Amino acid sequence: MPHYTAPLRDMRFVLFELLKVQDELKALPPYAELDVETIEAVLEEGAKFASQVIQPLNQVGDREGCTFHGDGVVTAPTGFRDAYAQFVANGWPSVGCDPDYGGQGLPTIVNNRLYEMWNSANQAWLMYAGLSHSAYECLVAFGTPEQKQVYLTKIVSGEWTGTMCLTEPHCGTDLGILKTKAEDNGDGSYALSGTKIFISAGEHDLAENILHLVLARLPGAPAGTKGISLFLVPKFLPDADGKPGRRNGVKAGSIEHKMGIHGNATCVLNFDGATGWLIGEPHKGLAAMFVMMNSARLGVGMQSLGQAEVAHQNAVAYAKDRLQGRAPTGASLADKPADPIIVHPDVRRMLMTSRAYTEAGRAFTTWTALLIDREHAHPDAAVREEADELMALLTPVVKAFITDNAWETTTLCQQVFGGHGYINEWGMDQFVRDARINMIYEGTNGIQALDLLGRKVLADRGAKFARFAAHVQAFLQEHGGRDELREFTAPLAQLLADTSALTGELGARARVDANEVGAASVPYLRIVGHLVFAWLWARMAVAALRAPDDAFHAAKLATARFYFAWLLPETATNFREARAGAATLMTLPADDF
Ligand SMILES: Cc1cc2nc3c(=O)[nH]c(=O)nc-3n(C[C@H](O)[C@H](O)[C@H](O)COP(=O)(O)OP(=O)(O)OC[C@H]3O[C@@H](n4cnc5c(N)ncnc54)[C@H](O)[C@@H]3O)c2cc1C
Repeated sequence: MPHYTAPLRDMRFVLFELLKVQDELKALPPYAELDVETIEAVLEEGAKFASQVIQPLNQVGDREGCTFHGDGVVTAPTGFRDAYAQFVANGWPSVGCDPDYGGQGLPTIVNNRLYEMWNSANQAWLMYAGLSHSAYECLVAFGTPEQKQVYLTKIVSGEWTGTMCLTEPHCGTDLGILKTKAEDNGDGSYALSGTKIFISAGEHDLAENILHLVLARLPGAPAGTKGISLFLVPKFLPDADGKPGRRNGVKAGSIEHKMGIHGNATCVLNFDGATGWLIGEPHKGLAAMFVMMNSARLGVGMQSLGQAEVAHQNAVAYAKDRLQGRAPTGASLADKPADPIIVHPDVRRMLMTSRAYTEAGRAFTTWTALLIDREHAHPDAAVREEADELMALLTPVVKAFITDNAWETTTLCQQVFGGHGYINEWGMDQFVRDARINMIYEGTNGIQALDLLGRKVLADRGAKFARFAAHVQAFLQEHGGRDELREFTAPLAQLLADTSALTGELGARARVDANEVGAASVPYLRIVGHLVFAWLWARMAVAALRAPDDAFHAAKLATARFYFAWLLPETATNFREARAGAATLMTLPADDF
């Protein structure tokens, strides 16, 4: 059975040595009193919940899956309900929520690290709570005072969970063609009818009520995305005391049988005149839903970071234990029939790849969490605006770059196990299968890449990109002259210059042929992802050099060197691909495929 130990040492490095959040928080009034000891204590408790409560259920959930009992009833795997009850009793759902709604008011930097651990322990289980947190963000931004009073406090306490209902049988990426209808009941409520598919946590037995956030069309709504409205549709309509009352007209028709995340119920939901209430303004539902979607996209990045970390830990343990072959330089365990496979350079390549991507992913998602905290709480409007722009730019990168990397690294960690990685007993196949969905849902990674290049970079002529580039330039200005850092700063400076040049080139090409953006977007996202990781690895090298003799910091430096030598060179291919042009993709007529 796989094991998991929360990487608290590395989290401390990122939080307190790399990003120095202890200083940053002092500038954010709601968190100014939060000290290092409190953050560490919360993370330690969260780590116990991960390894003691939900990690032991991960394989159970994978084996058993969820059960559809007919008439809309779905149960989660054995143990899931009890673990959720503990989660609620311990107050975990409210950690990152506003005290005005019963939350504990801790910053996103803390909540995100908890989510990383819990995802490592059991992604399928955490999805029941994770989607609720995204629904929370949407209701905070767009809910009416009454909606906040009735629903938000229940979401914050974890008594009720949330879902996001976008997808329909004929409409996934293209939400403009969705058909679910909402008709005015004349009493402030609406009657929703239609079918949503693939709804995560759409029905289950963990919580006493479920709040569905549903996209639908009002009668006479404009066609396309400009005619979509957002509705709140509870499974049970709250009674006068705010308790779950009459059953609403929404039911699970079935659950999907799928490749991974078996412990999470992926439901077909039938809305049959279900009562709902408008969230935000009519026809502006997509903008409101985007608050939930952006939160969920960052959450998906965290899911893959969690999968990559747990796969890495198990691969390292196996590589130290499994005896096969001799080290090319001479036996390391002469008294044994063979050496542990960690002596082989190719096994090292696999382990170092997963290590370098995982540690950079942790630094990246902690930094973006800090941006969210600045965006919410910094007293200076200019700082808030900068954080907002950076988050808009980087959300598709968190989602797609981290999930693509985790697909590669969970597969490499499975490979470390040889044949034992392919059989169920060791659990490595589950990490690979669970990580695969993260590249697909919440907008496929291809769509994230289009969002980055088309909407976030070219649409504002590179203004948001320039904001990020300024951070890299400032770092280079400060450290570019240091000889001991040249191995990091020189390639970083080159990558920044090359990416800026490519961005200008692609803008010019896109003005001539609309297909150029779609052709270049995926390699472009890889390049931007590497630019972020190269900047963070260079920064981590600076932090590690403050105490290079300590084993932890020496390992950081070694991993930084590996990243620059082995992973960054992927960008050479990415630049060629991004410049290859649309013609080579589009020439062949569809009929000739
Ligand atoms: C396990 C699971 C859980 C899910 N949970 C939820 C949930 O909770 N709520 C919810 O609403 N949905 C959910 N989904 C749905 C998921 O978000 C969609 O499957 C996903 O967004 C893709 O939509 P689709 O499957 O219709 O693919 P399609 O939109 O048909 O896309 C198929 C392929 O074409 C590409 N493509 C499509 N349009 C374009 C374009 N314009 N440009 C370039 N490429 C394009 C896509 O990238 C993809 O590779 C879930 C799906 C699964 C499998």
